Amino acid sequence: MDGLMMAFPLTLPHLFQRAADYYPEVEIVSRRPDKSLHRTNYAEFHGRAQQLANALKRLGLKPGERVATLAWNHSRHLEAYFAIPLAEGVFHTLNPRLSPTDLSYIMNDAEDVMLLVDDVLLPVWEKLKADVKVRQVVVWAHGQDLPEGTLDYEQLIAAEPASYEIPAIDENQAAGLCYTSGTTGRPKGVLYSHRALVLHSMVSALPDVLGASFTDVVMPVVPMFHVNAWGLPFTCTMIGAKQVFPGPHLDAVSLLDLMAGEGVTKTAGVPTIWLSLLDALDKAPPGTWDLSKLNEIISGGAAAPPSMIERFERDHGLHVVQAWGMTEMTPLGTVSRIKPSLAGLPAEEKLALRATQGLPVPLVEVRVESLEGPAPWDGKAMGELMVRGPFIASAYFKNPAEATKFTEDGWFRTGDIVTTSPEGYVRITDRSKDLIKSGGEWISSVDLENALIGHPAVAEAAVVAVPHPKWDERPVACVVLRPGASATPDELRAFLAPKFAKFWLPDAYLFLEAIPRTATGKFMKMALRKQLKDFRWSGNE
Ligand code: AMP
Repeated sequence: MDGLMMAFPLTLPHLFQRAADYYPEVEIVSRRPDKSLHRTNYAEFHGRAQQLANALKRLGLKPGERVATLAWNHSRHLEAYFAIPLAEGVFHTLNPRLSPTDLSYIMNDAEDVMLLVDDVLLPVWEKLKADVKVRQVVVWAHGQDLPEGTLDYEQLIAAEPASYEIPAIDENQAAGLCYTSGTTGRPKGVLYSHRALVLHSMVSALPDVLGASFTDVVMPVVPMFHVNAWGLPFTCTMIGAKQVFPGPHLDAVSLLDLMAGEGVTKTAGVPTIWLSLLDALDKAPPGTWDLSKLNEIISGGAAAPPSMIERFERDHGLHVVQAWGMTEMTPLGTVSRIKPSLAGLPAEEKLALRATQGLPVPLVEVRVESLEGPAPWDGKAMGELMVRGPFIASAYFKNPAEATKFTEDGWFRTGDIVTTSPEGYVRITDRSKDLIKSGGEWISSVDLENALIGHPAVAEAAVVAVPHPKWDERPVACVVLRPGASATPDELRAFLAPKFAKFWLPDAYLFLEAIPRTATGKFMKMALRKQLKDFRWSGNE
C-alpha cells in the first residue's frame, strides 16, 4: 500500500523562496577585488536572481543547457547558483586555477552555451576563448569598460523585471555540473540534480553534520567552484543564515579581518588555508583579531593533520571539525565529531578520533572492501571505501568509460583506502593509487605526512612510493621546511621512529622548495613520483 503524502518535488526554488519570505533582511556580504565590502540581503538577492533568470531566457537559454561560471565567491555568483536552475539551465562552475587546456576541454565537453566571468578572471578567459564556443560572455564587472563582444552583468539584469514565473521543475532535473579535479586522466563531469542538492542541504544543516542555523554567520573559504563550496551556499540560503564571501582575497590576513569584522561563526576550507591562518595567528600579537564568535572551522578536501587541530585549540581556543567528501558526493560523506558514548575518552584519544574522517552522515551508506572481502571494524584492516546514497553520482556526465567506478550492485568506488574503528569512525589511510606497498605490506603515506607535519621545522610533507629493487616500493619523504628552520634526515627519522613500525619509516628525505599541487590545492603525488622515478638507492636499504 502506498503512503498518502504529496509528491512535492525537492527543488531549489523552494529554498530560494523561503529565504526571501522569512529572512529578507539577512545579509550577504562579499569582498570586492578592491577589498571594499559589498552588502546585500536575501530580499535584494531574490529580486536580482529573478532578473538574471529573465535575462538568461531572453538570451535564448533552453532547458538543460549549461551556463558556465568562472568566478570567486561572492553574492553575484550566488545569484547565478539559483537563477540558472530557475531558468531551467544547468550552472557549471569552472576552476580558474586549471590550465587553459583543461578548461577548454571541460567547457567543450560540457557544451557550455554561455559564460559568466569575473572581471579579475578575464585574463584566464582570454587564454582559452579561441578554443571554446559560447554564445554570450557576461562579465561580473565593477563599472569599468569591458572587452568587445562581452556584456556587463549589471546592465544586463537592470533591463529585466524582478519577478520571474518559476516553471514546474522535476526534482530529478539537472541543476549543476562540476568536473572533478582528477590527479590522473581527463576531468570527469558530475551532474547534480535539484533533489540531490536539496537533500544534501538538509543533511549538511543537521547539528552533528555541519550544524548550520539561522543564528550562524557562515564564510565558505572553499571556492564556489569546488563542489559548490561544499553546498554551503545552498544550505545557508535554505535556513536563512548570513553568508560572508571572501571574493578573490584568500590570504590569511584578509580572511582573519573578514571573520573578525563580520562576526563569522562558522567557516569551511582546506587544510592548506587553515595552516596559513595558524601561522598568521601565531605571529600576530594576541587579540589582533576578535574571533570570539567563531565556533567552528570545518576542514576538508585533504587530511587535517592532528597537530593542526591541536594547535588551533591549544594556542587559539578554536575548534576544528574534519569532514571528508568528494565531488561525486555533492560532496559530504563523513564528519568527525565525538559521540556522547566516547565523551569520557582521554584527551589524546579524542584528538586522534577527531583527526579521523569520522562517521558517515545520514543518507550516506558506506562499505569497506579489503582484498579478502568486507573489512572488519577493528581500526586496522584497510580496504577501499564504497558509498551510496541519494546525493551520490550514479554515473559521470557523458563518460561511459568510467563506468567501472560504479559497481553492479549500486555502489560508487571512492578510490580512498580506509580503516574503520570499532565505533564506526572511518579513517583515510590513502588514495588507492598513493598507497605504498613494501614487501607485501601497505604503508599509509597520509599517516607519515600527518606525523611529519607535527615536527616544528616542517611546513609541508608529502610521502610517495619509489620503486625499489628488493621491496617493490619504499617510502620517500618530500619535505618543505618552514622559513628559517632547519632539520636533517636523521632528526626527522628520529622524530618518526617512536610512532611507526620500523619498515614504515621513509628511507630518504628530500628537501624541496614547494610540493607540486593540483588546481584544488591537493598534493600532486603523480608529479613527485615522476620526479623520483629514477631515484638511486644508495646501498643496503
Ligand atoms: P574532490 O572530489 O576534489 O573533493 O576530491 C575528493 C578526494 O579528496 C577524496 O576522495 C579524498 O581522497 C580527498 N579528501 C577529501 N576530504 C578529505 C579529508 N578530510 N581527509 C583526507 N582526504 C580527503
